[in-house]
Amino acid sequence: SSIRPSLVLPPGSTIGILGGGQLARMIVIAAAQLGYKTHVFCPESDSSASHVATETTKSNYNNYANLDIFASKVDVVTYEFENIMVEPVEYLAKKVGVFPDPKVLRICQDRVQEKRFIQSLDVPTAAFEPIDSLDTLKTAIQKVGYPAILKSNTMGYDGKGQVKITDQVDLESAWKKVTNETGAQRAILEQYIEFEGESSVIVARTIDSTELCFPLVTNKHRNHILRQTIAPAPLPPAVHAQAKEIATKIGKGIGLVGILAVELFVVKQADGNYKLLVNELAPRPHNSGHWTIEGCVTSQFEQLVRCICGLPLGSVDLMKRITEKEYLEQPAAQQHPIVMTNLLGAEVETWEKHLSIKGCHLHIYAKGDIKEGRKMGHINQTN
Ligand code: ADP
Ligand code: MG
Repeated sequence: SSIRPSLVLPPGSTIGILGGGQLARMIVIAAAQLGYKTHVFCPESDSSASHVATETTKSNYNNYANLDIFASKVDVVTYEFENIMVEPVEYLAKKVGVFPDPKVLRICQDRVQEKRFIQSLDVPTAAFEPIDSLDTLKTAIQKVGYPAILKSNTMGYDGKGQVKITDQVDLESAWKKVTNETGAQRAILEQYIEFEGESSVIVARTIDSTELCFPLVTNKHRNHILRQTIAPAPLPPAVHAQAKEIATKIGKGIGLVGILAVELFVVKQADGNYKLLVNELAPRPHNSGHWTIEGCVTSQFEQLVRCICGLPLGSVDLMKRITEKEYLEQPAAQQHPIVMTNLLGAEVETWEKHLSIKGCHLHIYAKGDIKEGRKMGHINQTN
């Protein structure tokens, strides 16, 4: 950002947040604990975050008059999702510090740019080709090979705008499906990775370039939606080290101030060793980091607040009275991972039973309508 807070923003300052979903809600809660005020800016009325924020502006993101007022009322700005229009965020960044910088958004909301950037750091990804028409798709499948996966280049989330391409799939209908689901006219064709599992790691980086990674976790998806996170990931210490190295490289390379999640494919090689490929980046709190609320000394949300307010980073040690290293060196039978489970759709109606389970922490997002697959809350089982 062109504007950098020269001073630490002390408690009492106001953090502006673009977006009003559950991630914004949990940023607000962490900010409030440290004594910060929050101002949520989002188009929805009665949003999950607005119930807890100090103030809410209900507005479209490209209403510049409302952005002017918002900028005059906040001391720093962050955002909860990367599919936001970049122009309004760049506009805000001329008036107030915006972290992570809008140039990070430009990279992370465009899958082709994102993969090119990652590869430029010598970090591996799946092989890919940019697609802008049915013709380029037909040529690209020859290079990438079957099976592949076609994804809309922008605006995808929870697997929306994606089709797996096998030699049985008609390319024209695949192209139509991806463009219709998201309205995007550009896509990416990626080699389909036969992974052993999916993992993620969150890196935090401050204005003065100190950085720290949260422990690597394993993620289990159902219908392309995150179901469960196991923390720390039940993988060898060398894989944890490799993941942190990758995330640190990306954080540095992108000039991160704030937090960024790196989604990884864990591939088992012929020699039995694991290789990590980066799937995608999210320059914001991530669903796979919700376990940190009770599982880590500092949550991902508090860490973000610390980063953007110029405070020192908090410890990412496990809340368990054991270090991450000791934990990972234990025989598997003695490990008791921290497990985060999403409450999707009607599952939120089971809220009451979780209250009487020892070590179970219930989080409800206070969203109005229950819809299938909608993230309504989560539980963190810490022991
Ligand atoms: P989204 O933005 O929807 O999260 P992702 O790129 O993370 O998009 O894809 C969603 C899920 O689809 C991934 O978590 C993974 O399970 C699967 N997937 C995505 N890309 C590939 C790939 N190249 N090979 C195999 N599976 C993939
Ligand atoms: Mg993803």
